[in-house]
Amino acid sequence: METENTSIHDLDFGLICEYFASMERQGPGSSSMTLKALSYVTDLSENSKILDLGCGTGSQTMVLAQNTLGQIMGIDLFEEFVNIFNANAEKLKLNHRVTAIVGSMDKLDFRPGEIDLIWSEGAIYNMGFERGLNYWVDFLKQGGYVALTEVAWLTIDRPAEIEDFWQDAYSEIDTIQNKIIVMQNAGFEIITTFVLPEACWLDNFYALHIKAQKQFLSKHPNNIAAQKLVENEKHEAMLYAKYKQYYGYVFFIGRKL
Ligand code: SAH
Repeated sequence: METENTSIHDLDFGLICEYFASMERQGPGSSSMTLKALSYVTDLSENSKILDLGCGTGSQTMVLAQNTLGQIMGIDLFEEFVNIFNANAEKLKLNHRVTAIVGSMDKLDFRPGEIDLIWSEGAIYNMGFERGLNYWVDFLKQGGYVALTEVAWLTIDRPAEIEDFWQDAYSEIDTIQNKIIVMQNAGFEIITTFVLPEACWLDNFYALHIKAQKQFLSKHPNNIAAQKLVENEKHEAMLYAKYKQYYGYVFFIGRKL
């Protein structure tokens, strides 16, 4: 319920959650790119322990689950996403080995060397690529994998408008080559990297926004915070259309040395 006493911060948090919960995915990606990344991960068995950090409502986790054996745990900060995730797992009859819990990717409750695979699509930026990899690596067993997507520059030079936008939004954005160095320094051998095709943004992400925005605005007429959220999302989509040759999401797959 929105009341006059709701702080703008709480309102924003609740609204952001509601906006993204209505979409099938919360970041750019696709089932075929999830499967492509998974094809580089070998050695999984029914005893494997897999984490999906920042799993959202879990569309990529269900693809993972349908194409691996082993136990999969999704972890996300937003309870509403976790509830949708668990309902999806149940619908797909995967709930005996696929569960999500509310938690933070920077406070993991696992033993060192316990995990076979850490998956994370479009989420590590929440704790930062370098900090995330350096923290997560300890939980992986030797030879364990990390497979994640992260925004990266695709060119050496960029127009000021998009450079400024990303410096403000996520100053850790960098070239693929520099990201690889960060990953190697965290203790990983690089198995492969590949750029997600534009359709992962345009058809699988921004197209979902257009539908979500209509519903969202009609549910919150005259709500300034809701309008601002939609404006921000539209601005981001406009920037992607204009500057998509300069940046993209990249799958990074590494193996703990
Ligand atoms: N992997 C999903 C969601 C990506 S959006 C997909 O590709 O569709 C980023 C997700 O990270 C959101 O679901 C958000 O709730 C979650 N998140 C943000 N901060 C987090 C944190 N500290 N720990 C765990 N999840 C977090």
